[in-house]
Amino acid sequence: MCGIVAYVGHREACPLVIKGLKRLEYRGYDSAGVALINQHGLSVFKKKGKVVALEHELIGKDIQATIGMGHTRWATHGEPNDANAHPHYSFHRKLAIIHNGIIENYAAIKQALLKKGHTFTSETDTEVLGQFIEDIWENNGGSLEEAVRLALQEVVGAYAIVIMSQTDPTQLIAARKGSPLVIGVGDNEFFLASDATPIVEYTKDVIYLNDYEVAVIKDGQLSVVTLDNTTTTPYVHKVELELEAIEKGGFDHFMLKEIFEQPRSIADSMRGRVKAEEGTLQLGGLRDYLDKLAKSKRIVIIGCGTSWHAGLVAEYIFEELARIPVEVEYASEFRYRNPIIKEGDIVIAISQSGETADTLAAIELAKSKGAIIFGVCNVVGSSIARATHAGAFTHAGPEIGVASTKAFTAQVTVLTLMALAAAHRKGTLSESLFRQLLTELESIPAKVEQVLQAADKIKEIAYIFTYARNFIYLGRGLNFPVALEGALKLKEISYIHAEGYPAAEMKHGPIALIDEDMPVVVIATQDSSYEKVVSNIQEVKARKGRVIAVVTEGDTHLPGMVDFTIEIPRVHDILMPLVSVVPLQLLSYYIAVMRGRNVDQPRNLAKSVTVE
Ligand code: GLU
Repeated sequence: MCGIVAYVGHREACPLVIKGLKRLEYRGYDSAGVALINQHGLSVFKKKGKVVALEHELIGKDIQATIGMGHTRWATHGEPNDANAHPHYSFHRKLAIIHNGIIENYAAIKQALLKKGHTFTSETDTEVLGQFIEDIWENNGGSLEEAVRLALQEVVGAYAIVIMSQTDPTQLIAARKGSPLVIGVGDNEFFLASDATPIVEYTKDVIYLNDYEVAVIKDGQLSVVTLDNTTTTPYVHKVELELEAIEKGGFDHFMLKEIFEQPRSIADSMRGRVKAEEGTLQLGGLRDYLDKLAKSKRIVIIGCGTSWHAGLVAEYIFEELARIPVEVEYASEFRYRNPIIKEGDIVIAISQSGETADTLAAIELAKSKGAIIFGVCNVVGSSIARATHAGAFTHAGPEIGVASTKAFTAQVTVLTLMALAAAHRKGTLSESLFRQLLTELESIPAKVEQVLQAADKIKEIAYIFTYARNFIYLGRGLNFPVALEGALKLKEISYIHAEGYPAAEMKHGPIALIDEDMPVVVIATQDSSYEKVVSNIQEVKARKGRVIAVVTEGDTHLPGMVDFTIEIPRVHDILMPLVSVVPLQLLSYYIAVMRGRNVDQPRNLAKSVTVE
């Protein structure tokens, strides 16, 4: 998510920070801002939109300073606008803060501060943290650094923060947990940034701040302490990477970076929502409507492309756990076919960008017929997020690659949480299965990580099939939508024709296509339909098709039967798509790369489809 840049030293801070923010633009953001300290004190300038809009805002202002910090925001709490942009002043304006991440318990802290008479100028969790730190600082009489440590000991969530204060114009305080922060060490100057990209042109010496560490730069000296005030000795690395490579976090493409980010993005989509140990699941954006969802007689899910596939996964899960009938519709079809929607029906609209034109129009239509609309979007403040009655953000962070990967797994995660919450409320899900699924959900990031370890093997398989002209993808149950998604990924970025089918449907037509030139990808995990899928594989093998099977680790049966296997860890059937889709993403990626395709910007495709 988004970007941080800060500087203290002998150079002009503002141009350096602005340039750094531009270097971080690849991360995606919706607003930008800077804070500086000079003869006018601590000043903050911020603007919705691109960094150039901020630059425009700065024209004619006295921005001469040798200390400054800047931020590009990817909204999670409060829509993208000038007021919600960072930096945020504290209540008495003694400090300013920038923050990447999410403070999960901000509402409770805000409540306590409101009781003390505080007021807020934004809807962000970040402003709450800034005010909390200042409050501790004022009441304890200790140093700002101590106040930062004490405040962060109370904070639940993920953060990389930087703080500047009026009272000490040579000081930058930074801390991290979960969100990245790098310190650049120059000659009597220091840099802070979300990654090394804005720093490398000034110094190659960098320190990667660890979780629960606080860095204090003061009077040209750096010290690092842990939250409980133990001094640590930071290790200075030499950055060797070229700028171009660093921008994609060392990956060749954004798509690959985003595939590899999934352990984190899935965890982020559950952050603050799932607490397996306590057996609780909370979706703040659903609170007022959860009853209506749980009691609904019928749910209609609408989406386009990958979002539609996430909807198909959700259909299985809602029906299985909450016993509510679900229909999944292409938004573009729904909006033009006089759909039967009755007062109080539930519609769930899924869109990564929150701007998909067909989905937006379908929402308006359903609303006009009296439906209650839930949104599942990645972009806070987007048109769809604003048009819906309730919903849950996916919090996957910006997705730059046109072919969706981490947004899909985040959508499936959030939809699973919605189904679990509805089923739990409705009483169709036993307490023990509810708790078991929460625990299993928490283990999904580690399991996805395990699948990613197989990337090299998948690359070898991709190499063998680089020049295939067609592909068939098969799966049953929850793995059927995964087969569709796997085929879509391959089409999108490699331009190879691919079809996804429910495995049993093959014999009703597509089996005519099978011969030795037809690779067939089968998701054959050991779930309730395993035996049936094995029979379907036999049908393919009998016709000389070449089978790549995604199997459960430890499967001894299929490796002898198919041409290639990719092992994935065992997970509960309900959660399988979150793991089984990952090897298919990698397979498409490597095939497309080997065919020399423009993976991040495939021909004819747009990231956010704002036309019908
Ligand atoms: N949660 C904060 C906000 O919504 C920070 C988001 C970010 O990482 O940019 O303002």
